[in-house]
Amino acid sequence: MDAANDALVKVKNVKKYFPIKGGILKRTIGHLKAVDDVSFSIMKGETLGIVGESGSGKSTLGRVMLRLLDPTEGSIYFNGTDISHLNRRKIRPHRRDMQIVFQDPFASLNSKMSVAELIEEPLIVQSSLTKAERKEQAIEIIEKVGLRAEDRLKYPHEFSGGQRQRISIARALVTRPKFVICDEPVSALDVSIQAQVLNLMKDLQDELGLTYLFIAHDLSVVKHISNRVAVMYLGRIVEIATKKSLYNNAYHPYTQALLTSIPVIDHGQNDIPRKTKIKLTGDLPSPSDPPSGCTFRTRCPMAHERCSLERPELIEKDAGHFVACHLYTE
Ligand code: SF4
Repeated sequence: MDAANDALVKVKNVKKYFPIKGGILKRTIGHLKAVDDVSFSIMKGETLGIVGESGSGKSTLGRVMLRLLDPTEGSIYFNGTDISHLNRRKIRPHRRDMQIVFQDPFASLNSKMSVAELIEEPLIVQSSLTKAERKEQAIEIIEKVGLRAEDRLKYPHEFSGGQRQRISIARALVTRPKFVICDEPVSALDVSIQAQVLNLMKDLQDELGLTYLFIAHDLSVVKHISNRVAVMYLGRIVEIATKKSLYNNAYHPYTQALLTSIPVIDHGQNDIPRKTKIKLTGDLPSPSDPPSGCTFRTRCPMAHERCSLERPELIEKDAGHFVACHLYTE
């Protein structure tokens, strides 16, 4: 699963633990295990969807992959280079190849900067282009995301939510990256706008040869755009498979529950099978004090004795379809 020659990105046994401080001396009294031993690869030109509830660690994982956060353990390979421990100077040449689109276009765009300044800023930091070249490259990407060249003189408040997200996408793509992490890029948008932005991202991927990691809390959103989908629960991947295999034949009770909870109207893609009816109840346990054994056991209708004693490892249930659940090893 994690060894592929044409992988653009490889994540190997990555952990991200945040120390929990306590007492008068503010000593470390525990760890919040946001990402706990995660491995996978993303092929060139592929979109891997990552799905999980908020608090599952998916956004932290994305930030570790871009080295916006340092991993506690494990390795991240980008285009064959181990970038896990590169210092700021050595990571800089890779920055322009790896970008991120954030969830909230209202919060992620500085309202005091014009569209031109916002989109050219990454080029100032991450390239040695002249002013004229930066302007030309910015106009090119502004038009590619469906805005007009003259929009570059406006400010973010003059645009709708969907248009602002187009600006964010232009800002991420202006350096001509190879890999883009899309962190819930349509969650803050009206449902009517979501499909337009998803279609735009798909078109841009085809045109520019991009590789995506697409983070979402909703399996219907990633279905539209992903080639493979990974499901995360409390910092670990519990199931990963091709889109077809995962949506037609989900094995993990958590994935089945996420499929059950998809609203009936899902961007006109309402062809998700409803073989399973598992209702997700209760809240995600704290990643600072996860349940023993299988961390999903406190919410799993199929939990049995072994689940509290032993943590299930990912096993290959079908070709390329991995699941971490004791039901499939007994
Ligand atoms: Fe449920 Fe047990 Fe499978 Fe975990 S290992 S998902 S608790 S059946």
